[in-house]
Amino acid sequence: MIKKNKNKTYTYLSQQSKLFGEELFIKFSKNFDEDLSLSIKTQNLSDEINQYYKSISLCKKCSLGHTRNKFVFGTGDPNAELMLIGEAPGKEEDLKGEPFVGRAGKLLNKILAAIDKNRNDGVFITNVLKCRPPNNRDPLASEVDKCEPYLLKQIEIIKPKLIVALGKISGNTLLKKDITLKEMRGTIHDYFGTPLKVTYHPAALLRNPNLKRDAWQDFQWIRDFLKG
Ligand code: URA
Repeated sequence: MIKKNKNKTYTYLSQQSKLFGEELFIKFSKNFDEDLSLSIKTQNLSDEINQYYKSISLCKKCSLGHTRNKFVFGTGDPNAELMLIGEAPGKEEDLKGEPFVGRAGKLLNKILAAIDKNRNDGVFITNVLKCRPPNNRDPLASEVDKCEPYLLKQIEIIKPKLIVALGKISGNTLLKKDITLKEMRGTIHDYFGTPLKVTYHPAALLRNPNLKRDAWQDFQWIRDFLKG
């Protein structure tokens, strides 16, 4: 994710040096100052989230740190306006080190495409827990207590305009409530100063396609909120 920009810059600079030697040719756009400050901001932000990832990726604060294969920090755009939060990595995510890569993740990609987004552009995807609970059991309160500060720091760095909790467990865990998904869906909540919407987990949509209509309504709302 974060390597991508560095690789592009490296390729560009090595092409330039092959063509023109040590002299650097830069085309200034009309909005040069704005472009420059944006690229500095992006660079700093990428560095910040990268550094944060490195600083927590060996976490062993709870037992999941001893049973996981990979720490699943989250992936996407470090400048994302939309942050999607699932409950915890599953089997495939634990093996790959990326959130939502299984069947549910593929459906999530389709949903994002339907609102003209994709997981690397304007979107950051993560989970409440960064490590897989054995046999995909629900997160324990003690695990959430240790892991939630990581999520809060990710939000502080990325500063999304909207957080979307995927599924009842993610919603209830973030809101510290024990209510149904239907009850949570109807309201825009607040998560430490960022608006939070709760919608269906894509795995629930795979199990029960009748829920897709409501989920589509939610994602249309999300699209409009981000435009507003
Ligand atoms: N379910 C989740 O909640 N998160 C993932 O990353 C994958 C499946």
